[in-house]
Amino acid sequence: MAHPKRSLPGNAPGDLYVDDTCIDCDTCRWMAPGTFHRTAGQSAVRVQPESSQDRRLALLALTACPTASIGTRARAPEMPAIRSAFPVPVAEEVYHCGYHSAKSYGAAGYFIRRAEGNVLVDSPRRSETLAARLQSLGGVRWLFLTHGDDVADHDFWRERFACERIIHAGDAGGSTLAAERILVGEQTVELAPDLRIIPVPGHTQGSCALLYRDAFLFTGDHLAYSQRRAHLYAFRDACWHSWRQQTESMEKLRGYPFEWVLPGHGRRFHAGRVTMREQLETCIGWMRGPR
Ligand code: SF4
Repeated sequence: MAHPKRSLPGNAPGDLYVDDTCIDCDTCRWMAPGTFHRTAGQSAVRVQPESSQDRRLALLALTACPTASIGTRARAPEMPAIRSAFPVPVAEEVYHCGYHSAKSYGAAGYFIRRAEGNVLVDSPRRSETLAARLQSLGGVRWLFLTHGDDVADHDFWRERFACERIIHAGDAGGSTLAAERILVGEQTVELAPDLRIIPVPGHTQGSCALLYRDAFLFTGDHLAYSQRRAHLYAFRDACWHSWRQQTESMEKLRGYPFEWVLPGHGRRFHAGRVTMREQLETCIGWMRGPR
């Protein structure tokens, strides 16, 4: 729980605060950009939320925060409803799960609701509140793990829903060696007619992306959007396996149509296919360029 005595000096005066346990995962800043910003290597409240919408976004971020570093000085009567609000819709039947885990440095988890079986993409932290909500939406058939860094509480979700966990052999290890499906090779795997798993080695040896309905690309830590650069990009300083291979994997994505990039870390991006292709080419050019 956040503690007001540990509130960071950079917080704007008022009810909401960030304390010194913040790990700078960026979650609150992209979820509630009107309220939070980065200062001195951590997040802080830039402006106290005034509108009900800004306050709702800030409290959703409070719930998603992997380290419980965000608090309110006064009791927030909305919290029970806020905690039950996840998963929150992104578009169509794609949802953001919230409840980020410190085990995956605050990576985002997503939920796809489909008549043929729902998919959890990467693992939120364990939460009975979230589990009850996912149950009410039809449960989880597959837990797709984009790579070994973002598996967090995968065993909790497996136990809760008896879902099939999927991870690539290149990243399976420790507890994920018990995954029900371990992929090998670099061929695209058709999980269902609307779900394709695309191996994209580079960030890690076994990184994979999931393409849903040729529109939503779940990228783990392979590909994200950079607001500062204003283009799609990859984490060069957090490439744990091979930058050359990650660049080749990025080129491989030319063969797939998509309109959404939904990463574990970094910012989402949504655009028409022409713009998305241009963005991908910019990213590839940047990756091929000088460091
Ligand atoms: S979500 Fe929590 S840990 Fe992440 S940047 Fe915000 S306050 Fe820090």
